[in-house]
Amino acid sequence: DFIGVMKKIEEGQDLAFEDIVLLLKTERKAELDALFAAADRMRKEIIGDVVDIRGAIEFSNICRKDCKYCGIRATLPELERYRMDEDEIMEIVHELHQMGLQTVILQSGEDLWWTPVKIVQLIRRIKVETGMRITLSIGERPREEYELYKEVGANNFLLKIETTNREIFEFIHPDDDYDHRIECSKWLRELGYINGSGCIIGLPGQRPEDIARDILFFKDMGINMIGIGPFLPAKGTPFEKYPAGSVDMTLKAVAVTRIVCKRVYIPATTALASLDPDGQTKALQSGANTIMLINTPAKYRYNYQIYSQKNMIDLEAAFRAIEEAGRKLPPYLRVTKEGLKDA
Ligand code: SAM
Ligand code: SF4
Repeated sequence: DFIGVMKKIEEGQDLAFEDIVLLLKTERKAELDALFAAADRMRKEIIGDVVDIRGAIEFSNICRKDCKYCGIRATLPELERYRMDEDEIMEIVHELHQMGLQTVILQSGEDLWWTPVKIVQLIRRIKVETGMRITLSIGERPREEYELYKEVGANNFLLKIETTNREIFEFIHPDDDYDHRIECSKWLRELGYINGSGCIIGLPGQRPEDIARDILFFKDMGINMIGIGPFLPAKGTPFEKYPAGSVDMTLKAVAVTRIVCKRVYIPATTALASLDPDGQTKALQSGANTIMLINTPAKYRYNYQIYSQKNMIDLEAAFRAIEEAGRKLPPYLRVTKEGLKDA
């Protein structure tokens, strides 16, 4: 029962599949509070109170793939496509660097205009001009490319499995192969990346048992960063009319992931903030420890709505969530609510 599983957590025992399912199925307020509190305590012990802040640049919404849930999928006819060039990206990178941020996340659709040569040049420039850490989130590429990016300085890679239920995976990804996706993730690990994965909560047909398997997958694969966000319907996609994932289920998944995977980065996701105005605060209180700002130039943001009504996480929103959760700003940050610290 619930009390038995909580006791296991307190005693530092590993949770079995059934234990995780039980936690994910719980709906009683008192039990939810106890679960979130346990994850919060573990986060505090292992990571401390500082919330790591990272800046994301969504540098291209051009994608060769047609994932059924995604608001920038290849066949969306009405979407205006954009692609930032290297100089435009560097301008934002410098802003993030001035803010004191240490990590820039480069995210895009699977846009093959960005060839290895161009990506290598961009990574080199970021390293030389700012020394920032780089997270790539550009989808599936050949092993040699991943290797090249690592060699020239990329540090982290985010490639979410989205779901470990093979049937659902294949249903939502008309052009992806489940085994290949896992292979990509293994390559990233072998190549020494800080390896990011994650899942979407509330996919059609997904059950708590599936989410439990996702969490055990993250553990078994030694995943270092785990992004867990609710499914949100995007206009014009096949899933436009599907209901959004639940806030509580997302928070439960965050909490259990912290408890099972322990020393990992878990972002309070933008998707959660888009579904619930207090979503990020709640995630920070249930095991999450990082926030990703969206630093895509305003003129492009509207066209990177991977789901509709995407919330814009800026510094103000991050400050609010961190304050409300009673947590600490990272010491490296050079901006305060009032502006640049020593400018
Ligand atoms: N193209 C790259 C990829 O797929 O890995 C990176 C960009 S993709 C837009 C980043 C993430 O957005 C995906 O991993 C997926 O989890 C998330 N996403 C896309 N559409 C979503 C939706 N409708 N609801 C929730 N998450 C979504
Ligand atoms: Fe493209 Fe990524 Fe969206 Fe799939 S999730 S359509 S790969 S941007």
